[in-house]
Amino acid sequence: MMRFTLPRDMYYGKGALEELKHIEGKKAVLVLGGGSMKKFGFVDKVLAYLKEAGIETTLIENVEPDPSVETVMKGAKVMREFEPDWIISMGGGSPIDAAKAMWVFYEYPDTTFEEIIQPFSFPTLRQKAKFIAIPSTSGTATEVTAFSVITDYSKGVKYPLADFNITPDIAIVDPELAETMPAKLVAHTGMDALTHAIEAYVSTLNSPFTDPLAIKAIQMVFRYLPDSYSGDMAAREQMHYAQCLAGQAFSNALLGITHSMAHKTGAAFSNGHIPHGCANAIYLPYVIKFNAANAMNRYADIARSVGITGSDEECVKGLCDKIDAYNVKLSIPKTLKEFGVLEKEFKEKVETIAELAVGDACTGSNPRPITPAEMEKLLTCTYYGTEVDF
Ligand code: FE
Repeated sequence: MMRFTLPRDMYYGKGALEELKHIEGKKAVLVLGGGSMKKFGFVDKVLAYLKEAGIETTLIENVEPDPSVETVMKGAKVMREFEPDWIISMGGGSPIDAAKAMWVFYEYPDTTFEEIIQPFSFPTLRQKAKFIAIPSTSGTATEVTAFSVITDYSKGVKYPLADFNITPDIAIVDPELAETMPAKLVAHTGMDALTHAIEAYVSTLNSPFTDPLAIKAIQMVFRYLPDSYSGDMAAREQMHYAQCLAGQAFSNALLGITHSMAHKTGAAFSNGHIPHGCANAIYLPYVIKFNAANAMNRYADIARSVGITGSDEECVKGLCDKIDAYNVKLSIPKTLKEFGVLEKEFKEKVETIAELAVGDACTGSNPRPITPAEMEKLLTCTYYGTEVDF
């Protein structure tokens, strides 16, 4: 038996934030990131709407990018003292991911982080609170997914937590929040969304329920991302919806090795973190060439849905060329070398990274199985920009 789970309600459109006026409850905790939502006036708006709804609110602020286990535990403690019946999180992926994990430890104080690392093993939530997610970036789609990424800095490991219990109850997808994104973030998050949709479509867990969501998201990203990047706010609005559709697809079909590679290389090199969406954008065309041996017809479907014609082989090549062209438009490098990863360091670390990437939670649903040796070869192709021919 398969399962398809989404939030109970999704409110979208400019001004959708106002829906907060109508929620019923007594107390809410509002989980926020570094301050941009406050700066642009959205926190004041939320507080005013909640006040109108008769809800008392407390804030958990300054959740860091790549939130830590400590941040999660601290937030859960605040929740246990305040006892909210709503957890509301607004911002990029990080505060929403952190809030999802805080929710678990709010409701189950005796649970340990180790116990919930195991996918789909969470205790039953919604005993104390329900969850509203309000994204300000157009990429992770954490507002509709069953995932949360939390970093254990003591071990230097990022843990993707996965369970349908943490799929939010309500997602508010208001494009006015996404208007605040700088161009680089638009590019990276947009390519992350494209990767979500493509990986979901070719995933071994793809289904008739997820396919239409993935295809529509892919069409919309190709149609709207360049204009959104140039600052066209009507296109930015469509991107905000496209990433949400991609999230609905991948939350239920899961992902593939583009994400495995991005997870394990993101913080691996000394001269700078590789932003998640940027890493995905670099790896995606190489991964398509590797996976095509097992998923040629699925990639060809994707290519044809965006107007590429020809044989299956020609369609797959056309799709890779199109992604390359978008990366150029969005100032995303073609290789890790071009990104600035040092050759010596890459060579030293690639074997270990390859092993970790094969062990990543996203590898299991990739359409083509991969060995550590093949992963090392694939990563090497992404470093030098050489052809994937194995
Ligand atoms: Fe992603």
